[in-house]
Amino acid sequence: MNMTIKGARVVDVRASLPRHKTLKYRRRKLTDIRSAAMHHSATKSGSPEAFARYHVGTNGWPGIAYHFVVQKDGTIYWCNDPEAISYHVGNSNRHALGICLVGDFRTQKPTPAQLDAANRLIRHLQEQIPSIKQVLGHQEYPGYTWKNCPAFPMGTFRTNYSQFLQKAVGKVDKPKQVPVAIKLNRQLLAVTGFLQEGVSMLPVRAVANAAGGKVEWIEQTKDVRVNGKDFNEKIIAGSAYAPARELAAALCLQVEWDGSTNTVILRG
Ligand SMILES: [Zn+2]
Repeated sequence: MNMTIKGARVVDVRASLPRHKTLKYRRRKLTDIRSAAMHHSATKSGSPEAFARYHVGTNGWPGIAYHFVVQKDGTIYWCNDPEAISYHVGNSNRHALGICLVGDFRTQKPTPAQLDAANRLIRHLQEQIPSIKQVLGHQEYPGYTWKNCPAFPMGTFRTNYSQFLQKAVGKVDKPKQVPVAIKLNRQLLAVTGFLQEGVSMLPVRAVANAAGGKVEWIEQTKDVRVNGKDFNEKIIAGSAYAPARELAAALCLQVEWDGSTNTVILRG
């Protein structure tokens, strides 16, 4: 599984953590995983090595209980293959992936870096393993109402997680403006346009002036015209931009597009 997560540091410690000499965790298919289970380490500090030593040495388990451990500085330690049915939520082990945040949240709080890393990790896991539909606290699994784990409010955690997902979507949806160079009769102009939704938008006044066109500004309608022609223009920071084809037509120029250099070539 690809565990490169944008904005997070993932350290793969699967091969170096203490393991039981003979016992091995049973395996499952990724599609068997239905939920991410949140835990706290219930220790003020700690490391995957320390947890693994305890789980193997004291509990006699095949390996560390968790699939991922998130340190206070936001570092994510990858501890078990997701396919390993490790021991962390009893009868629900077969369908759950264990994520442990280092800290004792009865008296401490997860750090902002830790929460951010946890959000990024869960989003990544849900992308890689779409059968993960739920994010639950240890305590929310059948038979564990008595267990104060992860000891932070899961309702708040899930609300923050959905807000994190929405923010990320907003970022992706924002239209990107790609700059466009402009050549007029082989001469590169000092101004640039931009590409928006596949259309090159050019600065009306600068291009019309360079091509000897007559520019008018109609104050009442906030309209710009070149040689008496109107455009579907866009005003950005006080300058009018028009689609290259409309502007070229008004200036009686031919227009070509060079996609390899993102250049609009105007000829007259
Ligand atoms: Zn737990």
